[in-house]
Amino acid sequence: MKITVKNPIVEMDGDEMAHIMWTMIKEKLILPFLDLDLKYFDLGIKHRDDTEDRVTVEAANAIKEIGVGVKCATITPNADRVKEYGLKKQWQSPNGTIRSILDGTVFRKPIILNNIPPAVRNWKEPIHIGRHAYGDLYKSVEHVVEGPGIAEIVFTPREKATSTRIKIHDFEGSGVVMGIHNTEASIRSFARACINYALFEKIDIWFATKDTISKKYQGFFRDIFAEEINNKVADIENSGLNYRYLLIDDAVAQVIKSRGGMLWACTNYDGDLMSDMVAAGFGSLGLMTSVLVSPDGKYEFEAAHGTVTRHYYEHCKGNPTSTNSMASIFAWTGAIAKRGELDKSPEVTKFARKLEDAVIRTVEGGIMTKDLMLIAEPKAEKYAFTEEFLDCVAENLRSSLSS
Ligand code: NAP
Ligand code: MG
Repeated sequence: MKITVKNPIVEMDGDEMAHIMWTMIKEKLILPFLDLDLKYFDLGIKHRDDTEDRVTVEAANAIKEIGVGVKCATITPNADRVKEYGLKKQWQSPNGTIRSILDGTVFRKPIILNNIPPAVRNWKEPIHIGRHAYGDLYKSVEHVVEGPGIAEIVFTPREKATSTRIKIHDFEGSGVVMGIHNTEASIRSFARACINYALFEKIDIWFATKDTISKKYQGFFRDIFAEEINNKVADIENSGLNYRYLLIDDAVAQVIKSRGGMLWACTNYDGDLMSDMVAAGFGSLGLMTSVLVSPDGKYEFEAAHGTVTRHYYEHCKGNPTSTNSMASIFAWTGAIAKRGELDKSPEVTKFARKLEDAVIRTVEGGIMTKDLMLIAEPKAEKYAFTEEFLDCVAENLRSSLSS
């Protein structure tokens, strides 16, 4: 008997090895057990190209309407990809498009396993990373300066004719300039999302910028964040949690020396880098899960890794692969658990937790993919192929559901 899920989930399919795993996860771990209405969007690169990328916008709007989505990793095309797939152009990053439509904050959290010790010995608890997902480098305008001339920032208020001009640089020769921005509203909703997430997960909040160098831009982030913390100071203190503000370089050092167990709230670019560093430190990109939370409570779950292109090329040659599907499975369980919570269907949320347990028991029982085998303690004898691993998880899930 399948468990009925009351409301739909938005499903966004993707590319390459991530797509191969996606299909197997659905067939082996989800559809046999759940009666689930999936609103399907194919974000595979070919279909994005065919629809002039409209499918990405439609998927984001569907998440806005339905509240919960789950996304497979997708190719963000560069020049090589345009050639490889014969694309019309270098389409924007789908994640970037979805983030700006939902104005959300991305939280990443590693999966912790007894037999996978982190690279940093003193890390005992997950380090959660909250990445501000709007603006800065990701909404920049750039200009290549071809010869001598002055680059300026010009701001023209809507109500007044007079503009403010600030010289960036007086160029003697060629060079390059970039303009970036952020908005108070977005920084505030980022800070609020972080506070809510930390209160929910019962973890301290760390926030860091480079405000010694960037007194206005980064200082703005520091001040807005501090204001939002002050607004919630009673809740934070009542929960026994702490807020720490640091300089970003100090934060990097302190995180390495810590035991983990905090939310590290990062500006957009810092979060891009640090989430990959933390993921690698906890063992593998295949262990990092990710959720985009919008200020009005919409959720999009995904794995933090990409499409795992190198493994896909092996797969295409007919060679067996050993790609870690755990983060993709946890994207599904995150979405299903959230759906259950929003629909007040505890049996749906319980199914998601049982699937997560089945995954963890599989690895702790010694069956794992190659990325984990190399770092497991005790050492694993051999590694499982991509599909073999999923079959073991399915077997563990079946036995836990029937007991
Ligand atoms: P990647 O797909 O994350 O893979 C980089 C390397 O990390 C892999 O070659 C593999 O190392 C290891 N790895 C990542 N995930 C793994 C897993 N589940 N199991 C085992 N090993 C794993 O990053 P990339 O190669 O830089 O990017 C490939 C494509 O993904 C690009 O087109 C990029 O645009 C896209 N991308 C999408 C997203 C997203 O949709 N969220 C995010 C990042 C990148 P070994 O080769 O050493 O085994
Ligand atoms: Mg990154």
